[in-house]
Amino acid sequence: MKNESQKSVFPFAANDYSRALAAKSKAFARQVYPSPEEDEYDDAPLDPFGETGGAGACTGVPGLVQRFPDRVLAMAASSCFMNCRHCTRRNILGDAATISAPGALAAALEYVQAHPQVRDVLVSGGDPLVLGDDAVMRIIDAFAALGQIDVVRLCTRAPCTAPHRITQKLARSLGASGKVWVNTQFNHPDELTPDAVEACRILVESGIPVSCQTVMLAGVNDSTSTMLALFRALQRARVRPYYVFQCDPVRGTAHFRVPLEKAKRIALECAERIGGLALPRFVADVPGATRKIPLELL
Ligand code: SF4
Repeated sequence: MKNESQKSVFPFAANDYSRALAAKSKAFARQVYPSPEEDEYDDAPLDPFGETGGAGACTGVPGLVQRFPDRVLAMAASSCFMNCRHCTRRNILGDAATISAPGALAAALEYVQAHPQVRDVLVSGGDPLVLGDDAVMRIIDAFAALGQIDVVRLCTRAPCTAPHRITQKLARSLGASGKVWVNTQFNHPDELTPDAVEACRILVESGIPVSCQTVMLAGVNDSTSTMLALFRALQRARVRPYYVFQCDPVRGTAHFRVPLEKAKRIALECAERIGGLALPRFVADVPGATRKIPLELL
C-alpha cells in the first residue's frame, strides 16, 4: 500500500568519481542509485531526530543542533558529493538551514559560549567539504579558537566519495589547530580504492585522527565476512573503525534496514574474529535516547 502524501523524495545526485566507483561495485551502486523500494509505503518519520525547524530546533540558531549536553552539530552545507540513498537526512537536505548563512556563524559561536559544557563541535551537513577551503576553514577555525572546545569533528564522506578533495593544502589547514578530527563513512571494502586510501593517508600524516562511521545496510555489507574485510581495509589505511550504525528509521530507507537479530549476530561474530583496535561499536541511534545504544542492549 502506498500513501503518496507520505512519500520520501530524495533526488539522485552523484559526482563523476561516485558514478565510476558504482560502475565497478554493486555494493556501492546500491548506495548511489535510487531504488523503487524507496517509494513503498513506510511509516518511519521524515526527520526522526528533529533536526528541522530551522535546522536548529533545540538551539534556536539556524544550522545549529544540540541533542547531547557536551556537543553540538553545526550544519555547514546542505548538499553532498553524492546523495547516499540511506542518508538519515535524506528528507531535510537541500532545505536545511546552515551556519554558512550571514550572521549564523556568529550566532552559533555565541550559543556555544553561553553553554560552557559544550566541548565538541560536529561540523556536518550535508558534506562540509562541498564548500571551498576558505569557507570551511572559516567555520572550523572559529570553533577551534574557543578555549572550551577540545574537538572539532569534520564529518565528511569526501575520502570515500570525492577523495581528490582531500589535498595536502587542505589537510595542513585542518591539522593546524590540533583540534580537528575527521569522521568519515566507508560501508564496503570496495570503497577503499587507491584514491581513497591516499586521501586518508594525507589526513593522517597531517596529524588528523580519522575514524569511520559505517552504516549496516541490507544488500551492501550485512554479512560478517564483508564487515571483517571492511575493518581490515580501514585499519590498513590507518582509519579507526569507530561505529557501525543500524540504518536509522528514516522514511524511504526500509529496504536497507537489517533485522536486529541478524545485526547482533554479525556484531558477535566480528568480535570473535578481529582484534579490538579494528573492532567498532555496533550501535543504534535511537530518537530521544541520551546516547548511542549498543546493539546488545536492544
Ligand atoms: S554524505 Fe552523509 S550527509 Fe551526505 S548524503 Fe551521504 S550520508 Fe547523507
